Amino acid sequence: MAGDKAKKKPPKIVDTKYFGNLKAGVIDREICSHCSTCVAACPAKGIQPTRIIDFPNWEEDCTDCGFCIRVCPRWEYKPLNGIGAYIEAFAARSTRFSGQDGGMVTEILASAMEMGIIDSAIVTGRDDEWKPEAFVAKSVEEVSEASGTKYSYSNVMPALRKAGKAKIGLVGTPCIVSGARKLQENMIKYRKNIKLVIGLFCTENFHYDDLRKFLELKGVDISAVEKMDIIKGKFTVKPQDISFPVKEMDEIVPSGCKVCQDFAAVQSDISVGCIGAKEGYSAVIVRTETGKRIIDYIRENGHAEFDSVNIKVIEKLVNFKIKIHPYP
Ligand SMILES: Cc1cc2nc3c(=O)[nH]c(=O)nc-3n(C[C@H](O)[C@H](O)[C@H](O)COP(=O)(O)OP(=O)(O)OC[C@H]3O[C@@H](n4cnc5c(N)ncnc54)[C@H](O)[C@@H]3O)c2cc1C
Repeated sequence: MAGDKAKKKPPKIVDTKYFGNLKAGVIDREICSHCSTCVAACPAKGIQPTRIIDFPNWEEDCTDCGFCIRVCPRWEYKPLNGIGAYIEAFAARSTRFSGQDGGMVTEILASAMEMGIIDSAIVTGRDDEWKPEAFVAKSVEEVSEASGTKYSYSNVMPALRKAGKAKIGLVGTPCIVSGARKLQENMIKYRKNIKLVIGLFCTENFHYDDLRKFLELKGVDISAVEKMDIIKGKFTVKPQDISFPVKEMDEIVPSGCKVCQDFAAVQSDISVGCIGAKEGYSAVIVRTETGKRIIDYIRENGHAEFDSVNIKVIEKLVNFKIKIHPYP
Protein backbone atom coordinates (compact mmCIF):
# COMPACT_ATOMS: atom_id res chain seq x y z
CA MET A 1 0.00 0.00 0.00
CA ALA A 2 3.04 2.29 0.15
CA GLY A 3 2.60 3.29 -3.51
CA ASP A 4 -1.10 3.88 -2.90
CA LYS A 5 -0.38 6.35 -0.10
CA ALA A 6 1.86 8.42 -2.35
CA LYS A 7 -1.10 9.35 -4.58
CA LYS A 8 -2.51 12.83 -4.14
CA LYS A 9 -5.43 12.83 -1.72
CA PRO A 10 -8.80 13.62 -3.32
CA PRO A 11 -10.53 16.96 -2.64
CA LYS A 12 -13.06 16.98 0.20
CA ILE A 13 -16.61 18.35 -0.02
CA VAL A 14 -16.98 18.82 3.74
CA ASP A 15 -14.30 19.79 6.24
CA THR A 16 -14.09 16.53 8.13
CA LYS A 17 -12.44 13.11 7.81
CA TYR A 18 -12.88 11.22 4.52
CA PHE A 19 -15.52 8.82 5.82
CA GLY A 20 -17.56 11.92 6.74
CA ASN A 21 -17.19 12.97 3.10
CA LEU A 22 -18.38 9.57 1.84
CA LYS A 23 -21.33 9.94 4.19
CA ALA A 24 -22.18 13.44 2.98
CA GLY A 25 -21.58 12.82 -0.73
CA VAL A 26 -22.98 9.31 -1.14
CA ILE A 27 -24.59 7.63 1.88
CA ASP A 28 -26.72 10.52 3.18
CA ARG A 29 -27.70 11.41 -0.41
CA GLU A 30 -29.08 7.84 -0.65
CA ILE A 31 -27.20 7.06 -3.85
CA CYS A 32 -24.96 4.38 -2.28
CA SER A 33 -25.24 1.17 -4.34
CA HIS A 34 -24.23 -1.02 -1.39
CA CYS A 35 -21.43 -2.48 -3.53
CA SER A 36 -19.29 -2.32 -0.34
CA THR A 37 -16.08 -1.56 -2.23
CA CYS A 38 -15.23 0.94 0.53
CA VAL A 39 -15.30 -1.95 3.02
CA ALA A 40 -12.59 -3.77 1.05
CA ALA A 41 -10.51 -0.58 0.76
CA CYS A 42 -10.62 0.74 4.35
CA PRO A 43 -7.23 0.10 6.01
CA ALA A 44 -8.77 0.74 9.44
CA LYS A 45 -11.27 -2.07 8.73
CA GLY A 46 -13.88 0.23 10.22
CA ILE A 47 -16.46 0.41 7.43
CA GLN A 48 -19.27 -2.10 7.90
CA PRO A 49 -21.66 -3.42 5.23
CA THR A 50 -24.73 -3.19 7.46
CA ARG A 51 -28.08 -2.18 5.94
CA ILE A 52 -26.64 1.28 5.46
CA ILE A 53 -22.88 1.37 4.92
CA ASP A 54 -21.58 2.59 8.26
CA PHE A 55 -18.38 3.28 10.18
CA PRO A 56 -19.16 3.38 13.90
CA ASN A 57 -16.98 5.98 15.66
CA TRP A 58 -15.58 7.22 12.35
CA GLU A 59 -14.86 10.61 13.88
CA GLU A 60 -12.19 8.91 16.06
CA ASP A 61 -11.23 5.78 14.12
CA CYS A 62 -11.17 6.90 10.45
CA THR A 63 -7.49 7.27 9.46
CA ASP A 64 -8.46 9.93 6.88
CA CYS A 65 -6.61 8.14 4.08
CA GLY A 66 -9.25 8.84 1.40
CA PHE A 67 -9.36 5.33 -0.08
CA CYS A 68 -13.10 4.99 0.60
CA ILE A 69 -14.00 7.87 -1.69
CA ARG A 70 -11.33 7.01 -4.24
CA VAL A 71 -12.82 3.57 -4.80
CA CYS A 72 -16.51 4.47 -4.47
CA PRO A 73 -18.28 4.19 -7.87
CA ARG A 74 -20.91 6.65 -6.63
CA TRP A 75 -18.49 9.43 -5.60
CA GLU A 76 -18.97 12.27 -8.11
CA TYR A 77 -21.38 9.85 -9.72
CA LYS A 78 -21.84 9.74 -13.48
CA PRO A 79 -24.01 6.74 -14.38
CA LEU A 80 -22.61 4.22 -16.84
CA ASN A 81 -25.05 2.85 -19.36
CA GLY A 82 -25.42 1.32 -22.81
CA ILE A 83 -24.51 -2.17 -23.90
CA GLY A 84 -20.79 -1.35 -23.70
CA ALA A 85 -17.88 -2.30 -25.94
CA TYR A 86 -17.54 -5.98 -26.71
CA ILE A 87 -15.60 -8.49 -28.81
CA GLU A 88 -18.37 -11.05 -29.25
CA ALA A 89 -21.80 -11.94 -27.90
CA PHE A 90 -23.64 -15.25 -27.98
CA ALA A 91 -25.85 -17.56 -25.97
CA ALA A 92 -24.33 -20.68 -24.41
CA ARG A 93 -24.99 -23.55 -22.06
CA SER A 94 -22.30 -25.32 -20.08
CA THR A 95 -21.95 -29.03 -20.82
CA ARG A 96 -20.48 -29.56 -17.32
CA PHE A 97 -22.41 -27.40 -14.87
CA SER A 98 -26.00 -26.44 -14.27
CA GLY A 99 -26.83 -22.97 -13.05
CA GLN A 100 -29.47 -20.27 -12.93
CA ASP A 101 -29.66 -20.19 -16.75
CA GLY A 102 -26.99 -21.93 -18.83
CA GLY A 103 -24.47 -22.26 -15.99
CA MET A 104 -22.02 -20.15 -17.97
CA VAL A 105 -20.81 -18.07 -15.01
CA THR A 106 -19.80 -21.27 -13.25
CA GLU A 107 -18.25 -22.61 -16.47
CA ILE A 108 -16.21 -19.43 -17.05
CA LEU A 109 -14.86 -19.43 -13.49
CA ALA A 110 -14.07 -23.16 -13.59
CA SER A 111 -12.30 -22.79 -16.94
CA ALA A 112 -10.34 -19.76 -15.69
CA MET A 113 -9.17 -21.88 -12.74
CA GLU A 114 -8.15 -24.76 -15.00
CA MET A 115 -6.23 -22.32 -17.21
CA GLY A 116 -4.39 -20.86 -14.20
CA ILE A 117 -5.81 -17.36 -14.82
CA ILE A 118 -7.27 -17.43 -11.31
CA ASP A 119 -6.56 -19.50 -8.18
CA SER A 120 -9.79 -18.63 -6.42
CA ALA A 121 -13.07 -16.86 -7.00
CA ILE A 122 -15.36 -14.76 -4.84
CA VAL A 123 -18.79 -16.27 -5.36
CA THR A 124 -22.14 -16.01 -3.63
CA GLY A 125 -23.72 -19.04 -2.00
CA ARG A 126 -26.69 -18.93 0.35
CA ASP A 127 -28.04 -20.38 3.57
CA ASP A 128 -31.26 -22.41 3.88
CA GLU A 129 -33.27 -19.19 4.03
CA TRP A 130 -31.70 -17.63 0.93
CA LYS A 131 -29.46 -15.19 2.79
CA PRO A 132 -26.53 -14.60 0.38
CA GLU A 133 -23.12 -15.66 1.65
CA ALA A 134 -20.10 -14.51 -0.34
CA PHE A 135 -17.07 -16.74 0.04
CA VAL A 136 -13.67 -17.46 -1.47
CA ALA A 137 -14.04 -20.60 -3.61
CA LYS A 138 -10.70 -22.36 -4.00
CA SER A 139 -11.77 -25.24 -6.25
CA VAL A 140 -14.06 -25.90 -9.19
CA GLU A 141 -16.33 -27.87 -6.81
CA GLU A 142 -16.66 -24.86 -4.50
CA VAL A 143 -17.38 -22.58 -7.46
CA SER A 144 -20.18 -24.86 -8.65
CA GLU A 145 -21.74 -24.96 -5.16
CA ALA A 146 -22.49 -21.23 -5.55
CA SER A 147 -24.38 -21.42 -8.84
CA GLY A 148 -27.82 -19.81 -9.03
CA THR A 149 -29.06 -16.23 -8.57
CA LYS A 150 -29.77 -14.79 -5.14
CA TYR A 151 -31.83 -11.63 -5.50
CA SER A 152 -30.27 -9.69 -2.65
CA TYR A 153 -27.08 -7.85 -1.81
CA SER A 154 -24.03 -10.03 -1.39
CA ASN A 155 -20.83 -9.09 0.45
CA VAL A 156 -18.58 -9.93 -2.48
CA MET A 157 -16.21 -7.01 -1.89
CA PRO A 158 -15.73 -7.55 1.87
CA ALA A 159 -14.84 -11.19 1.03
CA LEU A 160 -11.92 -9.88 -1.06
CA ARG A 161 -10.15 -9.20 2.22
CA LYS A 162 -10.05 -12.95 2.87
CA ALA A 163 -8.61 -13.86 -0.53
CA GLY A 164 -4.99 -13.16 0.40
CA LYS A 165 -2.47 -12.92 -2.41
CA ALA A 166 -4.17 -15.38 -4.72
CA LYS A 167 -5.10 -14.54 -8.32
CA ILE A 168 -8.77 -13.76 -7.91
CA GLY A 169 -11.85 -13.83 -10.07
CA LEU A 170 -15.07 -12.30 -8.84
CA VAL A 171 -18.70 -12.26 -9.90
CA GLY A 172 -21.09 -9.45 -9.17
CA THR A 173 -23.80 -7.08 -10.21
CA PRO A 174 -22.74 -4.03 -12.29
CA CYS A 175 -22.06 -1.89 -9.20
CA ILE A 176 -19.66 -4.53 -7.87
CA VAL A 177 -17.95 -4.68 -11.27
CA SER A 178 -17.43 -0.90 -11.17
CA GLY A 179 -16.11 -1.17 -7.62
CA ALA A 180 -13.62 -3.84 -8.68
CA ARG A 181 -12.33 -1.57 -11.46
CA LYS A 182 -11.92 1.30 -9.00
CA LEU A 183 -9.94 -0.97 -6.65
CA GLN A 184 -7.68 -1.96 -9.54
CA GLU A 185 -7.17 1.70 -10.50
CA ASN A 186 -6.44 2.91 -6.99
CA MET A 187 -4.88 0.14 -4.90
CA ILE A 188 -1.76 -1.76 -5.93
CA LYS A 189 -2.76 -4.83 -3.91
CA TYR A 190 -5.99 -5.27 -5.86
CA ARG A 191 -4.44 -4.26 -9.19
CA LYS A 192 -2.11 -7.20 -8.72
CA ASN A 193 -4.59 -9.84 -7.63
CA ILE A 194 -7.94 -9.18 -9.33
CA LYS A 195 -7.55 -11.06 -12.62
CA LEU A 196 -11.11 -11.64 -13.79
CA VAL A 197 -14.34 -9.70 -13.28
CA ILE A 198 -17.61 -11.29 -14.35
CA GLY A 199 -20.66 -9.03 -14.42
CA LEU A 200 -24.28 -10.13 -14.11
CA PHE A 201 -26.99 -8.28 -16.02
CA CYS A 202 -29.06 -6.47 -13.42
CA THR A 203 -32.11 -4.23 -13.29
CA GLU A 204 -32.47 -4.05 -9.51
CA ASN A 205 -31.34 -5.83 -6.37
CA PHE A 206 -32.91 -5.99 -2.90
CA HIS A 207 -32.00 -5.92 0.78
CA TYR A 208 -32.34 -9.50 2.04
CA ASP A 209 -34.72 -8.59 4.90
CA ASP A 210 -37.03 -6.66 2.56
CA LEU A 211 -37.12 -9.44 -0.03
CA ARG A 212 -37.82 -12.05 2.60
CA LYS A 213 -40.64 -10.04 4.19
CA PHE A 214 -42.14 -9.28 0.78
CA LEU A 215 -42.14 -12.96 -0.20
CA GLU A 216 -43.61 -13.99 3.16
CA LEU A 217 -46.50 -11.57 2.57
CA LYS A 218 -47.02 -13.38 -0.74
CA GLY A 219 -47.33 -16.64 1.20
CA VAL A 220 -43.87 -17.95 0.35
CA ASP A 221 -42.10 -20.20 2.87
CA ILE A 222 -38.58 -19.13 1.98
CA SER A 223 -36.87 -22.23 3.36
CA ALA A 224 -38.84 -24.37 0.87
CA VAL A 225 -37.79 -22.31 -2.17
CA GLU A 226 -35.49 -24.00 -4.68
CA LYS A 227 -35.26 -21.27 -7.31
CA MET A 228 -36.13 -17.60 -7.70
CA ASP A 229 -36.24 -16.03 -11.13
CA ILE A 230 -37.40 -12.96 -12.99
CA ILE A 231 -38.90 -13.94 -16.33
CA LYS A 232 -40.76 -11.56 -18.66
CA GLY A 233 -41.39 -9.02 -15.93
CA LYS A 234 -42.55 -11.59 -13.38
CA PHE A 235 -40.82 -12.67 -10.17
CA THR A 236 -41.27 -16.42 -9.89
CA VAL A 237 -40.63 -18.76 -6.99
CA LYS A 238 -40.20 -22.51 -7.54
CA PRO A 239 -41.34 -25.18 -6.79
CA GLN A 240 -44.31 -23.34 -5.26
CA ASP A 241 -44.98 -21.67 -8.61
CA ILE A 242 -45.88 -18.38 -6.97
CA SER A 243 -45.46 -15.54 -9.43
CA PHE A 244 -46.26 -11.83 -9.50
CA PRO A 245 -45.30 -8.76 -11.56
CA VAL A 246 -41.88 -7.51 -10.55
CA LYS A 247 -43.40 -4.00 -10.66
CA GLU A 248 -45.10 -4.82 -7.34
CA MET A 249 -41.64 -4.88 -5.78
CA ASP A 250 -41.02 -1.19 -6.57
CA GLU A 251 -41.66 -0.31 -2.93
CA ILE A 252 -38.65 -2.37 -1.80
CA VAL A 253 -36.19 -1.28 -4.49
CA PRO A 254 -33.28 0.32 -2.59
CA SER A 255 -32.61 4.01 -3.28
CA GLY A 256 -29.11 3.26 -4.60
CA CYS A 257 -30.52 0.96 -7.31
CA LYS A 258 -32.96 3.67 -8.38
CA VAL A 259 -30.09 5.80 -9.74
CA CYS A 260 -28.25 2.95 -11.49
CA GLN A 261 -28.42 2.78 -15.29
CA ASP A 262 -25.87 0.03 -15.92
CA PHE A 263 -27.82 -3.08 -16.95
CA ALA A 264 -25.08 -4.87 -18.88
CA ALA A 265 -22.15 -4.46 -16.45
CA VAL A 266 -20.21 -2.57 -19.09
CA GLN A 267 -16.88 -2.65 -17.22
CA SER A 268 -16.67 -6.43 -16.85
CA ASP A 269 -14.37 -8.86 -18.66
CA ILE A 270 -17.44 -10.94 -19.47
CA SER A 271 -21.09 -10.07 -18.77
CA VAL A 272 -23.69 -12.80 -18.34
CA GLY A 273 -27.48 -12.72 -18.08
CA CYS A 274 -30.54 -14.56 -19.28
CA ILE A 275 -32.33 -12.01 -21.43
CA GLY A 276 -31.65 -12.47 -25.15
CA ALA A 277 -30.87 -16.19 -24.81
CA LYS A 278 -33.27 -19.09 -25.23
CA GLU A 279 -34.42 -20.96 -22.13
CA GLY A 280 -31.67 -22.92 -20.41
CA TYR A 281 -28.94 -20.78 -21.99
CA SER A 282 -26.99 -17.80 -20.67
CA ALA A 283 -26.48 -14.63 -22.74
CA VAL A 284 -22.73 -13.92 -22.79
CA ILE A 285 -20.98 -10.66 -23.76
CA VAL A 286 -17.20 -10.95 -24.02
CA ARG A 287 -15.46 -7.61 -23.57
CA THR A 288 -11.73 -8.12 -22.98
CA GLU A 289 -8.85 -10.28 -24.23
CA THR A 290 -8.82 -12.15 -20.90
CA GLY A 291 -12.49 -12.96 -21.39
CA LYS A 292 -11.85 -14.04 -24.98
CA ARG A 293 -9.06 -16.43 -23.95
CA ILE A 294 -11.39 -18.16 -21.50
CA ILE A 295 -14.20 -18.47 -24.06
CA ASP A 296 -11.73 -19.88 -26.65
CA TYR A 297 -10.67 -22.51 -24.09
CA ILE A 298 -14.33 -23.39 -23.41
CA ARG A 299 -14.97 -23.73 -27.17
CA GLU A 300 -11.83 -25.78 -27.83
CA ASN A 301 -12.66 -28.21 -25.02
CA GLY A 302 -16.36 -28.56 -25.84
CA HIS A 303 -17.34 -27.27 -22.40
CA ALA A 304 -20.38 -25.42 -23.77
CA GLU A 305 -23.01 -25.56 -26.49
CA PHE A 306 -23.36 -22.28 -28.38
CA ASP A 307 -26.33 -20.49 -29.90
CA SER A 308 -27.09 -16.99 -31.18
CA VAL A 309 -28.15 -14.20 -28.85
CA ASN A 310 -30.76 -11.53 -29.48
CA ILE A 311 -28.79 -8.31 -28.92
CA LYS A 312 -31.87 -6.18 -29.70
CA VAL A 313 -33.68 -7.66 -26.68
CA ILE A 314 -30.67 -6.89 -24.45
CA GLU A 315 -30.60 -3.32 -25.83
CA LYS A 316 -34.27 -2.97 -24.97
CA LEU A 317 -33.52 -3.80 -21.32
CA VAL A 318 -30.47 -1.51 -21.40
CA ASN A 319 -32.72 1.37 -22.50
CA PHE A 320 -35.51 0.40 -20.13
CA LYS A 321 -33.14 0.69 -17.17
CA ILE A 322 -32.07 4.20 -18.24
CA LYS A 323 -35.74 5.18 -18.52
CA ILE A 324 -36.83 3.89 -15.11
CA HIS A 325 -33.74 5.18 -13.29
CA PRO A 326 -33.24 8.80 -14.37
CA TYR A 327 -30.23 10.60 -12.87
CA PRO A 328 -29.81 13.24 -11.57
C1 LIG B 1 -29.66 -9.14 -8.32
C2 LIG B 1 -29.61 -9.75 -9.71
C3 LIG B 1 -30.46 -9.27 -10.70
C4 LIG B 1 -30.41 -9.80 -11.99
N1 LIG B 1 -31.24 -9.29 -12.97
C5 LIG B 1 -31.17 -9.76 -14.22
C6 LIG B 1 -32.00 -9.21 -15.24
O1 LIG B 1 -32.77 -8.28 -15.00
N2 LIG B 1 -31.89 -9.74 -16.50
C7 LIG B 1 -31.03 -10.75 -16.80
O2 LIG B 1 -30.98 -11.19 -17.95
N3 LIG B 1 -30.24 -11.29 -15.84
C8 LIG B 1 -30.29 -10.82 -14.58
N4 LIG B 1 -29.47 -11.36 -13.60
C9 LIG B 1 -28.51 -12.44 -13.97
C10 LIG B 1 -29.15 -13.82 -14.00
O3 LIG B 1 -30.08 -14.00 -12.94
C11 LIG B 1 -28.08 -14.93 -13.89
O4 LIG B 1 -27.28 -14.71 -12.75
C12 LIG B 1 -27.17 -14.96 -15.11
O5 LIG B 1 -27.97 -15.22 -16.26
C13 LIG B 1 -26.10 -16.05 -14.99
O6 LIG B 1 -26.67 -17.31 -15.06
P1 LIG B 1 -25.72 -18.59 -15.15
O7 LIG B 1 -26.58 -19.82 -15.18
O8 LIG B 1 -24.73 -18.38 -16.25
O9 LIG B 1 -24.94 -18.45 -13.76
P2 LIG B 1 -24.57 -19.57 -12.67
O10 LIG B 1 -23.60 -20.52 -13.29
O11 LIG B 1 -25.78 -20.08 -12.03
O12 LIG B 1 -23.74 -18.67 -11.64
C14 LIG B 1 -24.34 -17.60 -10.99
C15 LIG B 1 -23.26 -16.80 -10.29
O13 LIG B 1 -23.85 -15.61 -9.79
C16 LIG B 1 -23.31 -15.31 -8.53
N5 LIG B 1 -24.34 -14.62 -7.76
C17 LIG B 1 -25.57 -15.08 -7.45
N6 LIG B 1 -26.27 -14.17 -6.76
C18 LIG B 1 -25.46 -13.10 -6.62
C19 LIG B 1 -25.60 -11.83 -5.99
N7 LIG B 1 -26.71 -11.47 -5.36
N8 LIG B 1 -24.55 -10.99 -6.04
C20 LIG B 1 -23.40 -11.34 -6.65
N9 LIG B 1 -23.21 -12.52 -7.27
C21 LIG B 1 -24.23 -13.38 -7.26
C22 LIG B 1 -22.87 -16.63 -7.91
O14 LIG B 1 -21.69 -16.42 -7.22
C23 LIG B 1 -22.63 -17.53 -9.13
O15 LIG B 1 -21.26 -17.63 -9.37
C24 LIG B 1 -29.50 -10.86 -12.30
C25 LIG B 1 -28.66 -11.35 -11.29
C26 LIG B 1 -28.70 -10.80 -10.00
C27 LIG B 1 -27.77 -11.33 -8.93
